[in-house]
Amino acid sequence: MNSNKIQLYNTLSRQKEEFVPINSSEVLMYTCGPTVYNYAHIGNYRAYIFADTLKKFLEYEGFNIKHVMNITDIDDKTIRDSQKENKSLKEFTEFYTEEFMKDIKSLNISNPTKFTKATDYVDDMVLLIKKLMEKGIAYKSSDGSIYFDIKKFKNYGKLSRLVLDDQKETTSLTPQKYSRIKSDEYDKENLQDFALWKAYDEKDGNVFWKNELGKGRPGWHIECSAMSIKNLGEQIDIHTGGVDNIFPHHENEIAQSEGVTEKQFVKYWMHNEWVLVDQKKMAKSFNNFFTLRDIIKSGINPVAYRFWLLMANYRTRVNFVWEALEGAEIALKRLYGLYAELGEAVGNVNEEYKDRFKKYLEDDLDTPRALTVLWDLIKDEKISPADKKATVLDFDKVLGLGFDILQKDIIPKEIIKIAEERKLARKNKDFKKSDELRAKINSLGYEVKDSENSYKINKI
Ligand SMILES: [Zn+2]
Repeated sequence: MNSNKIQLYNTLSRQKEEFVPINSSEVLMYTCGPTVYNYAHIGNYRAYIFADTLKKFLEYEGFNIKHVMNITDIDDKTIRDSQKENKSLKEFTEFYTEEFMKDIKSLNISNPTKFTKATDYVDDMVLLIKKLMEKGIAYKSSDGSIYFDIKKFKNYGKLSRLVLDDQKETTSLTPQKYSRIKSDEYDKENLQDFALWKAYDEKDGNVFWKNELGKGRPGWHIECSAMSIKNLGEQIDIHTGGVDNIFPHHENEIAQSEGVTEKQFVKYWMHNEWVLVDQKKMAKSFNNFFTLRDIIKSGINPVAYRFWLLMANYRTRVNFVWEALEGAEIALKRLYGLYAELGEAVGNVNEEYKDRFKKYLEDDLDTPRALTVLWDLIKDEKISPADKKATVLDFDKVLGLGFDILQKDIIPKEIIKIAEERKLARKNKDFKKSDELRAKINSLGYEVKDSENSYKINKI
């Protein structure tokens, strides 16, 4: 295990703290995943690239990570837009879930240990809501919906640092003093009791569950509490998301989870900043967003977007302009080119460079400075090409720029020579020799697949 101290910025304390997991054998991490009602925009992907880089870094430091990411396949927006398209909620959300999976793959985001679909956890949500009601923290309103009584949870506001207006009042407070909000998303000015369970409304069409809570569907916030507790337990190390999740979503997750367990839900809350367009937040509601498809359509490698984001600290806002992304792609291609020139041999990781690289990342995941170490290494003439190559591949375990993929694509000349010999043997109908050469290629860790007039080699 790493002896250096890792510092991570915790939104809860508004400062960098030493990272010490609750249980040293496994780090438990939860990431608020996509609401699958449309293609995610590239601003959304900043949250997943950030979570992925953080996870890769902690693995690099020797930790085992159990990482859960949810898929929100039931909420106000999925219902609204599935109806617009005249599709069942399942068919509609499955389509966008698949598109999301393709996108994260093209950004070199590795899959979490587990994806959890909200609709698979409704029973667990019901259980939590019942416990909150038993404890008197949640109540049923006259329309049949169930709300969380924010007045009954004394730490409400601790993450977003909102103070309830009449917290100082000494008279007893009743839920009626607060108005309620049924919609999943609302802003700080509308600090109010929020819906845990939404009574059936005609607008929900055929989307409802029937249980002890009545006919209805869960609110968005309870989904993450239920999925996190069910899969990772009552207390976890890291919860990630975009800054816009701090309020109300994460504040409400804390209220619900801690309201039930009476234990600290999350040790480190980590949030990435926004991607701006023309200095405004990129958002579907502002209609100023780009999707990964826009990047691919313009002929740019999606990994260049990952690379561009890594050039900035995750806690700083970045302003998206196409020229900047194109510049990032040029720089990335240059790195790929320099890497390709290093030849085929893979030597040893240079410990001095590795220490520098780690030192920057240990300072709250300072990827911009970690990238300067990568450039310095590549330009350092005192390091042999083979050792450079080993070190680049080592760094890429965190950066995810795809050098390891390039590595797989490089077929050694020796293998190509045998494959050419085999091609000739096949042409001469010397199948015995052809089979022998195939076996030889396999024994060297490659496989050859024949097509009519040619062949393709892959690493096994
Ligand atoms: Zn969430």
